[in-house]
Amino acid sequence: MRDKICSVSGKCGGCRWVDKPYQEQLQEKEKRFARLMAPYCKPEPVIGMEQPAHYRNKVHAVFGEDRRHHIISGIYEAASHRIVPVDSCYIENEKADAVIVTIRKLLPSFRIRPYNEDTGYGLFRHVLIRTAHATGQIMVVLVLASPILPSKNNFVKALRKEHPEITTIVVNVNDRGTSMVLGEREQVIYGKGYIEDVLCGKTFRISPKSFYQVNPVQTEKLYGKALEYARLSGRETVLDAYCGTGTIGIIAADRAGSVIGVELNADAVRDARINARRNGVENIRFYLNDAGKFLTDLAEQGNVDVLLMDPPRAGSDEAFLSSVIRLGPSRVVYVSCNPETLIRDIKYLKKHGYQVKRAVGVDMFPFTEALEAVCLLEKHGKK
Ligand code: SAH
Repeated sequence: MRDKICSVSGKCGGCRWVDKPYQEQLQEKEKRFARLMAPYCKPEPVIGMEQPAHYRNKVHAVFGEDRRHHIISGIYEAASHRIVPVDSCYIENEKADAVIVTIRKLLPSFRIRPYNEDTGYGLFRHVLIRTAHATGQIMVVLVLASPILPSKNNFVKALRKEHPEITTIVVNVNDRGTSMVLGEREQVIYGKGYIEDVLCGKTFRISPKSFYQVNPVQTEKLYGKALEYARLSGRETVLDAYCGTGTIGIIAADRAGSVIGVELNADAVRDARINARRNGVENIRFYLNDAGKFLTDLAEQGNVDVLLMDPPRAGSDEAFLSSVIRLGPSRVVYVSCNPETLIRDIKYLKKHGYQVKRAVGVDMFPFTEALEAVCLLEKHGKK
């Protein structure tokens, strides 16, 4: 028997496969995906990581007190609001974990009390750390129950003395009794309020609330596959649907005639526009809209040669998919974080004239059962 990698995995529930050797995890994912895809095509071998530990670039800790009123930080026990103390986690970025421990040790000397969910007393609720793999930049988000952090400047100084690699610190105010980590209001107390990372040669801004893939090493492989499947020649009109902060579309733009991005989250669209400008990409436009509604309108008069789509876990919807049929792009590259809805959606597309040509699983979440996949569909009779 190997030593247990994680002492709290039973309580946390995040990594159900933490004790399964990595090669076995990959085999199991490949088998499951092949079974699901069997009616459509034989997937390529799953793309795993060379070094799967500590891949998560985004780390969250909740703060509270133990029975003796010592400050603790860690995770909520699965399906409860009890805090399990955690100092280091096998899948999280190690620097981020170290910053959280430092913050916990600093709090008493600043007389800052953790927030108590039951009584509503106390200030300090959560810490969210986001790290940029390629640039090493680190963002610290301190989530407080009210807007004032005592001795703010000295706190920043003390934290940066221990971790000079921190490039920005943001106070986020969450004064509601919700299970959401972040509230609406934000105040930047150090640095620019965002960090920048590089993916596939392009630079992307990450703000406290914007969506960004949590495994940067695998994201490059995922996007690489999506673009390989897209086979862009430099002339195509490309649609990046569910585009988030525009990552896939911006990476595709060099190889396309023009790119249209559509996304429902306003912050993400703002970041996408900034990201396009930041990278000098001029042949891309972003629209803030529901992807289904947007496509319904586009199907009236627009043209799309290649569709890149990356919907959330719930998958796409009928408004979207029926418009895809009317628009009739030659190729659809479907990036999916949920194989179940992927299968449902490709079934629909297959019924209406598309063929599944290629598919591959990409392991974005080692030690968990989750599987990301890319699938290429082509219109019948088109090359
Ligand atoms: N392609 C991006 C984001 C993928 S996550 C990346 O790789 O980073 C899925 C995105 O779909 C999220 O940004 C979410 O806000 C967006 N989304 C969810 N429902 C949507 C809808 N109905 N219409 C458009 N975008 C939607």
